[in-house]
Amino acid sequence: MKPKKQYTVKYVCSNCGAKEDIPEDVLEYFDEINPMQLLSGPHEFKCENCRTGIMSPEEKPEIIVRGFGLYEGFGE
Ligand SMILES: [Zn+2]
Repeated sequence: MKPKKQYTVKYVCSNCGAKEDIPEDVLEYFDEINPMQLLSGPHEFKCENCRTGIMSPEEKPEIIVRGFGLYEGFGE
């Protein structure tokens, strides 16, 4: 038996405050279908609770900072 421990990112709705744990593989799937989003920030999801709010990560992931580092000096 393999223990199913998965890394998740906690997302919170800016409208109603609903929280949801988004599994890492779901985020990787969005990376694949929408890679340009990585340049502007983390993926955001429509809230399933209130259906009007936008869910974004509760804590900004460190990877964004590293992402900007990658593009430093771009176009020189
Ligand atoms: Zn909501």
